[in-house]
Amino acid sequence: MRDLLIRNGNLLLSADHENLLRADVLIRDGVIVQIAPELSADVETLDVAGDIVIPGLINAHVHSPGNFMRGTLEGLPLEVFMLYEVPPLASGREDPARVRLRTLIGAAEMLKLGITSVMDDAFFVPLTTPEAIDAIAGAYDDIGIRATLALDQPIVVEYDKYPFLKDILPPDLRRTMEDAPRETAEGMLAHYDHLIREWHGAGQGRIAAAVSCSAPQRATPDYLRALHGLSQTHDLPFFCHILETKLQRVLGIEKFGMSLIRYVDQLGILDERMLVIHSIWVDDEDIAILGASGASVAHNPVCNLRLGSGVMPFRKLRDAGVPICLGTDEAVSDDSHNLWGAIKTAGVVHAISGGDYARWPKAQEILAAVWDGGHRAMRRPQRLGRIETGAAADLAVLDARGAAFQPLHDIRRALVLAEAGASVRHTVVDGLVVVRDGRLTRIDEDLLRADLRRLEPQLRAEAVALRAGAEQLEPYYRQIVARAAATDVGFSRWVGQ
Ligand SMILES: [Zn+2]
Repeated sequence: MRDLLIRNGNLLLSADHENLLRADVLIRDGVIVQIAPELSADVETLDVAGDIVIPGLINAHVHSPGNFMRGTLEGLPLEVFMLYEVPPLASGREDPARVRLRTLIGAAEMLKLGITSVMDDAFFVPLTTPEAIDAIAGAYDDIGIRATLALDQPIVVEYDKYPFLKDILPPDLRRTMEDAPRETAEGMLAHYDHLIREWHGAGQGRIAAAVSCSAPQRATPDYLRALHGLSQTHDLPFFCHILETKLQRVLGIEKFGMSLIRYVDQLGILDERMLVIHSIWVDDEDIAILGASGASVAHNPVCNLRLGSGVMPFRKLRDAGVPICLGTDEAVSDDSHNLWGAIKTAGVVHAISGGDYARWPKAQEILAAVWDGGHRAMRRPQRLGRIETGAAADLAVLDARGAAFQPLHDIRRALVLAEAGASVRHTVVDGLVVVRDGRLTRIDEDLLRADLRRLEPQLRAEAVALRAGAEQLEPYYRQIVARAAATDVGFSRWVGQ
């Protein structure tokens, strides 16, 4: 039984609440069963002595395979960045022990920041294996986080993911891309069978599966429909990167004669299970389609600024009724899993969209995106993102002496604009204290760091080798990015020009 009594908390029950409530929280078997002052029960007790207790944060978009690449790159546009992140000519196999370590360091960072849930869109370079899937899911299970895992694997030839590229590549590079190892739809569906059978519902329900096509232009219509079928059958989130960059807007027109939002809508796969990642270069018609579909949008503002993608039209999407959640995206494009940074950036960046300042996002809306938007996108049976009777006991305890609360005028603005994660003392997931006084309880973090230190020279050498491979291709990618940038698409999501 995962029973726990949290005593003497100052609780922020949800994004809807303005004030803290002084109370105790009784948890039975991972579920909040009572919230009241002066509770007593013969169970494990965590006396937080007036500290601030909030719902655990939900990181709605992460790629854990980027965890070893933190800080390896300067700012680059996505299409050039991906040459380093997922080298298209790579060969070999991923070592499950390394995959586990890579996953654990990201999960450790998140738990210590009060992030209790994560949606990981994991890619595999170059191919997916059951062992690598097991390594990721097993790591999340062991460290104690709530995690939803999808397999973000393209199945088309590299040059087909972009406009113009096939025409400008020299024939030998084109052939090298055609011959590079890549997954098939059948192979990926077998991997999904493994993921769902072995891991969906594991860890008392903490671990779950999702499906991912990576992006519609990186898959085939038949594969997209097959993933949609899996999503419907098992009620799984369907991750799909759409219109992250201007180049992708141009690609939609060049390849499909329409925007990529219209493309997935016409394929019949855009529904309330879809998590549209980024949604920056959407036009008004796309926004209306999204609003009618029930799909959620994952907003990753730090990554979007880092890769020069542009600014997502937050207010237009909200006006259309599109649920928004927040993510960090990747340790090589954020360069952290610190959702607090994405929270603050989301809280301030939309002011540069101009217009009526009454329509800039408020702290309450940003927290609602993290907690309620994250809950909706994860599609779990448990209520996440609220401290209420019957909800999952996923909580973060913040030191009330933290700088963000000196003085405390408004808890929601303090969390969005002032807290950066340094105040997090304890993290509770599914009723278990997984971080106590800033230390992981289920994994030896000193050993974890020692393993990483040993691997560091190899990781640095690999980063250098990656650069050599990417530099061979970069001139062609620079050309297609420039060509797309120069194309008039009727609107812009860049600012300051
Ligand atoms: Zn992503």
